[in-house]
Amino acid sequence: ESSVIAELIGRPARTAAGETVELLINVDEPGLLDSLSPESCDGIGLARTEFLFHGGRLPDEEAQRAVYRRLLDWAGGRPVTIRTLDAGGDKPIPGVTPEDEANPFLGVRGLRLSLRHPELLRVQLRALARAGADRPLKVMVPMVTAPAEFERARALFDAVLRELADEGLEHGRPPLGMMVEVPAAALTAERFACDFYSIGSNDLVQYTTACARDNPALAELADPASPAVVELIARTVAAAGRRGVEASLCGDMASDPRLVPVLLECGLRRLSVAPAQVGRVKLAIRRYGGAPE
Ligand code: PEP
Ligand code: MG
Repeated sequence: ESSVIAELIGRPARTAAGETVELLINVDEPGLLDSLSPESCDGIGLARTEFLFHGGRLPDEEAQRAVYRRLLDWAGGRPVTIRTLDAGGDKPIPGVTPEDEANPFLGVRGLRLSLRHPELLRVQLRALARAGADRPLKVMVPMVTAPAEFERARALFDAVLRELADEGLEHGRPPLGMMVEVPAAALTAERFACDFYSIGSNDLVQYTTACARDNPALAELADPASPAVVELIARTVAAAGRRGVEASLCGDMASDPRLVPVLLECGLRRLSVAPAQVGRVKLAIRRYGGAPE
């Protein structure tokens, strides 16, 4: 099996029936790209920008632009989806995330937090728009619950684009998408005027099953293949189809070869996985719809 996997890594992901699946990678830390070939994937499906805070504070616009540009350069023309800061919950950032919450997973995190710190979000959106000049960049916001929140993010992004144009700074107009990781968003996905959907199964599983993602005692109950979770994924994919926009899944679920058939069955044809899992996931895709072994 390992030689088959090694061979598949450099080839496009295809099902047994010959259908192409876009297979992208998740990037938590840009440094890891140095030892990775872009040829092995169709681009970056999720860049988590929390790493930017490792120095203690968010880098300025110019420094951020350089980091985002590096991701785009690595991808060499393949699409790159960068997520705005998803601080809070399992990703606390001292000085930014609230310290007095009884339950941070249900607290001010992700976009909720960014909207309370527009000065941080503005810099990030400016740097992203500038990095996206002439590049296939997409931007997405995490932990969206209600359409009004997404609208606020959109309004801020539009304002930033106007500002950049007024300043005569070169920039792109990246599509703005949303993570679907809160059941409320999955159930009403069609109501969000986003340019694409990306399903975050890690949080979607946690919020659907009421099992904290960092509590191993509940691992069995927190089953990504449970009918409730699969139903929410399928609904989101169907809503995206009706709206004529892309849907993908970037949670850890996509990195588990045993769960790949479930996701393909939901209609997904775009998955973003941990770089180390690319070969195994390609093999699972290859076997999908083929004769049982
Ligand atoms: C998710 O929730 O599935 C996801 C991709 O985001 P994170 O794991 O960073 O919360
Ligand atoms: Mg998440």
